[in-house]
Order: sequence, then structure tokens, then C-alpha cells
Amino acid sequence: MDASMDLESRYCAHNYHPLPVVLTRGEGAYVWDTAGKKYLDMMSAYSAVSHGHAHPRLVQLVREQVGTLNIVSRAFYTDKLGPFLKRACELTGQDKALPMNTGAEAVETAIKAARKWAYTVKGVAADKAEIIACTGNFHGRTIAIVAMSDEPQYQQGFGPFPPGFTLVDYGNIEALDAAINENTAAFLLEPIQGEGGIVLPPAGYLKAAATLCQQRNVLLIADEIQTGLGRTGKMLACEHEGVVPDGLILGKALGGGILPVSMFLAKSAVMDVFTPGDHGSTFGGNPLAAAVGLEALNILVDEQLAAKSAAMGDYLLGKLRAIKSPLISEVRGRGLFIGIEVNNDQGSARAVCEALMKRGLLSKETHETVVRLAPPLIISKAEIDWAVAQIIAVLGELENLRRAS
Ligand SMILES: *Cc1c(COP(=O)(O)O)cnc(C)c1O
Repeated sequence: MDASMDLESRYCAHNYHPLPVVLTRGEGAYVWDTAGKKYLDMMSAYSAVSHGHAHPRLVQLVREQVGTLNIVSRAFYTDKLGPFLKRACELTGQDKALPMNTGAEAVETAIKAARKWAYTVKGVAADKAEIIACTGNFHGRTIAIVAMSDEPQYQQGFGPFPPGFTLVDYGNIEALDAAINENTAAFLLEPIQGEGGIVLPPAGYLKAAATLCQQRNVLLIADEIQTGLGRTGKMLACEHEGVVPDGLILGKALGGGILPVSMFLAKSAVMDVFTPGDHGSTFGGNPLAAAVGLEALNILVDEQLAAKSAAMGDYLLGKLRAIKSPLISEVRGRGLFIGIEVNNDQGSARAVCEALMKRGLLSKETHETVVRLAPPLIISKAEIDWAVAQIIAVLGELENLRRAS
């Protein structure tokens, strides 16, 4: 075993199952391993690296900001936080934002906001507020968040869990209608489920959910940590159905592939439930993160990364759907957020990812059967052509192995 892998396996908790490659450098859509081998990154850190690795504008900005001011806490104002949050609100149609660091923290923030809104605005009885989430969801790994999960592994061994969460079938509007009651604070959903396997709900579902939530006085909260910021071909995936949610959660690409930056955004009527001392984060909204986040948003707009994602995503989807292989049972996605469902009798998604890695293409399976393709949004047509050629070659190799065995 490679020495770096050895050290990491020896000293790091085994809470991941990484592909056997040791990365040491990244630039644009590429990363390099310690032996100097170059890989096209088709995973981009679960969509955190939508801007590409080491974007020159972000690297330049970090160099300047890091020598100026980094961490002061929210005990003071800074010249960086206001402009960042203003831009984020403008680009998403929200009124106010609460900055955090990781996605899970921003989801926790959304849950707290929804509950306090239920008690102070909607008039739900004390400690009765319910949040409806979806089957197959992924919102992070804290105790409250895994309480919402229906993935047994996310919960086993970690109970007891806080109450107040209900699950409805993802994509089923009647189920949502039936689940809402007088205690319902919010409906929390991913516009496309990422970790769930790049699962798209039926067309019109988001719009119908928004209408239903509005009629029943329930907040619609969209977790766009993975789908947001251009990933699906629009600034927000909710825009595909003309929906502006009451609350919005951003993370991952918000940090430009440089830092963990997340936030919960909402309409004033929701965000104004927070008063000083209610909630906080030592690092959330720090000037370094705020400067990086603002520049990350500006780059998205300047480089039209959402439009690029739409065009390149259509191109990649078309090419993948044209592949004739008994190993592929479905190709689905929107923009550069694509899942290839691998026929599990004939080869796991992990085997495909390992074979792709040998050919210099990095991806990661989600669950057993889905190969996720979510490259940096700056990926070119020629790079996609190359990637598709590798995928075709790998499927051919695996088909031959099957035939031989
Ligand atoms: C990644 C992800 C999260 C959790 O973000 P972390 O930064 O890992 O805490 C939450 N929701 C969705 C939809 C995600 O994809």
C-alpha cells in the first residue's frame, strides 16, 4: 500500500471508503496524484468544486484577504459580510441570510428557523412543530438531520433521535397533502436528490409543493446545497419550475472550492424570528469566507456557469444515453448533475469508478448502483468527449469480464 494511504488508514477514522488514489494538486477540471498522473475530476468534491480547482480569481483574492483579515467572529461587523449576503439574496430572490460553514449547519439553521417560525408566527403549540422531509433524502450527518433519514446506515447505532420529523414519498404530492397538519412548520426537500442517486421528481412536483405549502401555511424549504449555484443548469434548481422557496439552503460550491461556506436564506418573515443569542457560529460569516463566497458568486455570474452547465449537461446526457450497454439501466440528470444507473447483477457502480480511475477519470458511486458525474462547470466539450470515450471503454471491459466469468 502507498505510504499516504497507509498513514490515513492508520490514523483516520474509517468513515469513508476512498478510491485508492492519493491526490496532491488540482487545477481547473483536473487533479494530479503523487506519482504525477493526471485525472479529469468528474466528481468535484460532491459539487463543492463547481468553479474548478484553484480558480485564479479565487486564489488571487484569498492571497489578498488572508493577509488582511480572516477571523473576528460575529461579535463585530466586518466590511466583507454585508456585500456577500446582499449578493446572495439578490441572486436567489431571498430577503436575508444567516451565514454558516458546512451544509449540515445550514440545514440545522433552517430547522431551527422553521420551528421558531411555527411557534411565533404560525401559532403551533409549544414543542409540537413538525417538519416533513422526503424518503431518500440527504441533508447531512448531525443527529437531528439523520433523524430525518430513511437510510438505515445513517441511523444505526446513533439513537436516540429528536422527534418532530415526518417522511413522505419523494415526488408524491398527494402524500405531502395528506401529511400536512396544523403542527406542520415546513416541508424540506432537495429539488433533485443528490446522494439519493441523482433522483428527479416528476415534472411539476416542485411547483405543486410550493402551491400546497402556501395554501396550508407551511414553509417550503429547499436544500440546494448540491443542486444550487448552477449545478443543474440554472442558478437554483427551483428556477426550473419558477419556484422561489420560503427558505433556501446553500453550501458546497458557495465556498468556490476553497473553503467551507454555507448559509440559510429566507424571507424576512422567517429570518426575523432570530434574535441576538438565539443561534450562532464562531466561524460563520468570517471575512475570509465572506470574501471567497462573494467572489465565488461573482464568478458564477461572470462566467455564466449555469448556462454552461445546461449546455454541457445536455451534451453529456445525450452522449451517455446513446451508449448501448447491458450494464446501463438508466441515465438521468439535469445540467452537469448526472447519474448512470448501473445494472447491479452485472457489475457494481464501484467497479465502474475503479476502472475509470485507472483510465484517469475520477468519479464516485452513490449507493451501490449509481455512478455520479458532476464535473466542475467549466468542463469543455472536448473533455466531455474524452470522458465518454473512457466510460464506453470501461463498460466494454466490464462486459468482457462478465462474459468470461
Ligand atoms: C452535502 C449535502 C449536505 C451536507 O453538507 P456538509 O457540508 O457535508 O455538511 C446537505 N444537503 C445536501 C443536499 C447535500 O448534498
